[in-house]
Amino acid sequence: MTLPDRAQIIVIGGGIIGCSTAYHLARDHKADVILLEQGQLTSGSTWHAAGLVGQLRSSASITKVLKYSVDLYKRLDQETGLETGWKMSGCLRLATNQDRWIEYRRLATTAQSFGMDMQLLSPQEAKSMFPLMQVDDLVGASWLPTDGQASPSDITQSLAKGARMHGAKIFENVRVTGFEMKDGRILAVKTSKGDIACEKVVNCAGQWARQVGAMAGINVPLQPVKHQYVITEKIDGLSSDAPTIRDPDRRTYFKEEVGGLCFGGYEPNPVGWTMDDVPHEWEFRLFDDDYDHFEQHMLQAIERVPALNSVGVKQMINGPESFTPDGNFILGAAPECVNMFVGAGFNAFGIASGGGAGWVLAQWAIDGEAPLDLWVVDIRRFSEMHRDRQWVNDRTLEAYGKHYAIGFPHVEYESGRPRIVS
Ligand SMILES: Cc1cc2nc3c(=O)[nH]c(=O)nc-3n(C[C@H](O)[C@H](O)[C@H](O)COP(=O)(O)OP(=O)(O)OC[C@H]3O[C@@H](n4cnc5c(N)ncnc54)[C@H](O)[C@@H]3O)c2cc1C
Repeated sequence: MTLPDRAQIIVIGGGIIGCSTAYHLARDHKADVILLEQGQLTSGSTWHAAGLVGQLRSSASITKVLKYSVDLYKRLDQETGLETGWKMSGCLRLATNQDRWIEYRRLATTAQSFGMDMQLLSPQEAKSMFPLMQVDDLVGASWLPTDGQASPSDITQSLAKGARMHGAKIFENVRVTGFEMKDGRILAVKTSKGDIACEKVVNCAGQWARQVGAMAGINVPLQPVKHQYVITEKIDGLSSDAPTIRDPDRRTYFKEEVGGLCFGGYEPNPVGWTMDDVPHEWEFRLFDDDYDHFEQHMLQAIERVPALNSVGVKQMINGPESFTPDGNFILGAAPECVNMFVGAGFNAFGIASGGGAGWVLAQWAIDGEAPLDLWVVDIRRFSEMHRDRQWVNDRTLEAYGKHYAIGFPHVEYESGRPRIVS
């Protein structure tokens, strides 16, 4: 298919975020939209995600975005005819100490105010939902029945099909190589297969979004970090509708996968990837297994689910994902360029966010304004200081390590200081 020479909106990146944005631009706004992907759809971070879909955050707007994702994943297959693998298995969050328990009691109240039915369970009630789990150390657990899991590649392909059905054009194996600019505005996108004039650009290039943004002079402060999980062989007694589990005090998460368990975690000593440009030739690629580094999660997971002691590992996934200095993703209108919008830096919850992020980003690109109060994820929360790669790397690694930390009031980050002093 030959590339058109112009389009109203060009979306860069064919992962879950780009496909969702293109889908919503075409479906809700009837936009003339083109999506450009340098390799094949899903070939960046999306294809190797574990597929846990949680909804509850401390921000009402972000919870609304995540809830929208679930509502979309539930019914997308009916529209497109392509399955998403959505399973509303519910999520158990485990508490092993009183501080965590207080956090869950607060979360349950917050959830109710967002219209979500989060319940608090005794250890035995939690065990009855996941009998393979050891619960001697638990104070209790929270239960959110509407959380679930899905197949990241299938959702993305389904969104891409939906986008095409609503008129979007998707081109694979086309790399964006630069921008023709005038007075801080993008006039055309340069690609490996020719230039395309456009009115607006949406940068959904995942871990490449920083370097794609830099070609238009904008700063997208994210850092690729290596993230690992394993998938085990079948485990006797594990039900196919077992809930997902988050065990934050042991820094781990679990999900049922074809009769086995998929589990991973957020270690306090994460391994960052390159601080240079991410190589373009990274289609469907992974890093080598790093069992030494993963051992800390393995030991914790075995204590929680002793059956793991005697089951083999079918596969380890060690893939890159973009993380940010405050653990929130990066969305919205780039302050340095009037017609570039960004959706990147999803901190390992891009599958959970994908549907909703595409919905709000499409509206943002059309109206020039966020449809909700999205300040916690707005790209304008960053300043000149966040152009410092070393600072972004250091703070991002600290934020990764605190992914499951209890949200105590007034806690401050420690890395990258002193930076601003009186
Ligand atoms: C091991 C692991 C487990 C995970 N588990 C979960 C999970 O359970 N739940 C969850 O919600 N999230 C999870 N995630 C996170 C999730 O995978 C990501 O947040 C999500 O896939 C990000 O999607 P994206 O569209 O932003 O990026 P990507 O999927 O990386 O898509 C960006 C695309 O842009 C393309 N691109 C880049 N540069 C250019 C260019 N110049 N021209 C054209 N195209 C370009 C790339 O080729 C790529 O396909 C996990 C991540 C990892 C690493």
